[in-house]
Amino acid sequence: MSKNTNEKLKTKKPNCPQCKINCFRVLNEKGDSMVVTVNENFEVEPIHTEESLEGFDLSIVYCLGCSWKGSPKSLSTKH
Ligand SMILES: [Zn+2]
Repeated sequence: MSKNTNEKLKTKKPNCPQCKINCFRVLNEKGDSMVVTVNENFEVEPIHTEESLEGFDLSIVYCLGCSWKGSPKSLSTKH
């Protein structure tokens, strides 16, 4: 009854290159922010799946743990 698959998925997720967390914010035109995560395909996903990312700029994510910001594709997958 090994559950190693979950661990594998976790390590594949891209993290902040500075503080290594997978928790970010995105902003919309009005300046509202939403907490998101980035999956292993470098796609931005809302933490709360019922929320919509419509209107949010997904080209830049802001790290919640430090001052890093950048495109989801520039996140680190090397841990
Ligand atoms: Zn960070």
